[in-house]
Amino acid sequence: MNNFVVAIDGPAGSGKSSISKIIAKKMNFTHLDTGAMYRAVTLEALNRKIDLACENQYDFIDDISIIYSQGIVFLNGKDVSKDIRSEEVTNNVSTTAKLKRVRDKMVYFQRESAKNGKIIMDGRDIGTVVLPNANLKIFLTASAEARAKRRCLENESSGIESNFETILKEIKERDYKDSHREISPLKMADDAILIDTTEMTIDDVCNKIYKLIDERLKKMEEFKMEDLDMPKKLHVGDKVNGTVVVIKDKTIYLDIHNFTEGTMHLDHYTKDKSIESFKGLVKVGDVINCEVAKISEDNIYLSRLNQIVIENFKYVTDAKAEEKDIEVKVLKEIKDKGYIVTYKDNQLFMPKSMATPSVVVGQNITVRIVEVDEKKRNAVVSRRIIEQEEYQDKRSKEFDSIQVGDVLKGTVAKVEKYGALIKFDLVQGLLKTGQLSHVFVDITKELRVGQEIEVKVIHKADGKIELSRKALLKTPFEEYTDSHKVSDKVTGKVVNKLGFGLLLELAPNVKGLLHSSEYSHNPNDNYNNYVKIGDEVEVAIIAINKDKEKISLSRKALMDNPWERVTAKVNDLVDVTITAITDSGLNVACLGVDGFVPKQEALLEENKDISNYYAIGDTSKAIITDINPKEWKLKLSIKKYLAKEERKSFEKYLDDNTEATVSLGDMLKEVLK
Ligand code: C5P
Repeated sequence: MNNFVVAIDGPAGSGKSSISKIIAKKMNFTHLDTGAMYRAVTLEALNRKIDLACENQYDFIDDISIIYSQGIVFLNGKDVSKDIRSEEVTNNVSTTAKLKRVRDKMVYFQRESAKNGKIIMDGRDIGTVVLPNANLKIFLTASAEARAKRRCLENESSGIESNFETILKEIKERDYKDSHREISPLKMADDAILIDTTEMTIDDVCNKIYKLIDERLKKMEEFKMEDLDMPKKLHVGDKVNGTVVVIKDKTIYLDIHNFTEGTMHLDHYTKDKSIESFKGLVKVGDVINCEVAKISEDNIYLSRLNQIVIENFKYVTDAKAEEKDIEVKVLKEIKDKGYIVTYKDNQLFMPKSMATPSVVVGQNITVRIVEVDEKKRNAVVSRRIIEQEEYQDKRSKEFDSIQVGDVLKGTVAKVEKYGALIKFDLVQGLLKTGQLSHVFVDITKELRVGQEIEVKVIHKADGKIELSRKALLKTPFEEYTDSHKVSDKVTGKVVNKLGFGLLLELAPNVKGLLHSSEYSHNPNDNYNNYVKIGDEVEVAIIAINKDKEKISLSRKALMDNPWERVTAKVNDLVDVTITAITDSGLNVACLGVDGFVPKQEALLEENKDISNYYAIGDTSKAIITDINPKEWKLKLSIKKYLAKEERKSFEKYLDDNTEATVSLGDMLKEVLK
């Protein structure tokens, strides 16, 4: 067995050192207490009285000699085993141990020590940084109290005075500093075995570790010697995981396996020519996937270049698996075929059919991976899908933002007989011919493509929008009623004769109702007999109902009602002028209204032809026999007037010629004979 390495890490006081010492002794391992090394450097720094936190004051580190043998620590040839455990060193060691310069040197020493033979090394970063390929990694821990107690006992046995509380405080502080420092913090390696020693005796812990070492050793025995002899087994092209152990400007050295080192030059690490040094690019302990590029007599050359290609293409396959769109740079155009685009050093293809005008050589664009050929490490990408989706997305956002009732400005995109398409940003809406205006208009004459138009959204469903322009315009009714008011005198054309009145058109598409009761004051006026469709009638507006869009009209409101002035009663004596002579009697004008004298009431004598006695224009007195202003009825009797007149003259005659001896009865008898 060439080599066997046990790495034991853990916080201060977890028992690493004591246990490692016992195991080393029993199993014949070399033991290296790395904490003692950091303590020795700290002691030297304190002796030199330098500023412990100042890295550039540690020039002595390059010449320092620290030898750890059988538990004894020699610093520059002097046994300092006791001095390094002093309180001053303990309290300052974390400050020194966090410096890169110190750590690099210590790690180098420690790795060198582990190159041959069987070794058990304890510290904080052995399994993670110093010996990441250790055969067995143990992480020992215990509660802070248990650890403080142990340290007290340890100090006492070495004759060092100590106080539990102080040590507990120091341990906690050191735990914090050790696990929070930037470089190589105290951390359990992923493949380490955790042993909590709080409740365990030293023997228990040792037995457990013996067992683990035995198991691992047995396993290793099972491997043939050649298997362990990696360099002989390695071939060009083999994939290996190398741990960075030394970093130079243009070269790094990697621990490939079993402390076999390989070399990698910068140009085999990256294709990026702008990177000039490994410094800052990798750090000691980094594990790099690489390939054996060349094997010479005394060196193994490693390369990441093939790995980069594979790893790079993984970006493509991952993006595809995660359905993630990628940002690519358009590298070049392949005439009539499409474009080559680059993504993380991969060249991908975009067929012409999947390109859009935004695909311009030299530009960065986001594309969708549509197909991946992992074997050929090729992929087909599309810009079109992205833009289509963006378009759909924007369109549906715009669609969602449009609400019924909104008034929008759009542009006429298309005009047909049935209507026009109005385009907003991305959404289009339909303006049907009937929604253009309140009166019929030919939409193809009214609108032209490109014209701006303001419209109202009147319906929205199933991705479609219906618009109206007329909803924004005043209706003919509104326009008419804006310029007309109640009591205005207007002229309307009879468009319909209804049972209860006439429908008059006052303006195009504006109608008003002239109710039969409003046609005339005259109740006997049977206008239906003479009013014809198309006749013009002068009327007054008497009511406007804006809600119901109704206009009420009155003709009689414009007319005089002569009957209003008539106050005469039955038996009143009035003047009449004959206006017509008919078979049934005389039509007369009387008191400003029309009256009628029946034939038998026109003369004293009956059955005479009245036309022989009267002519149109004749005047007479007459007595009212019947009067009804509501019905415009006035009946008169000339006969009664004549009879009265006759009696009057007879009575006058009697007054003038009759002696007082003659009685009125005698006189009547004489007259009636
Ligand atoms: O193990 P011990 O307590 O003696 O270690 C002293 C200090 O040395 C630790 O607290 C830690 O700061 C440092 N150390 C380290 N890395 C190691 C071992 C010890 O940083 N591998």
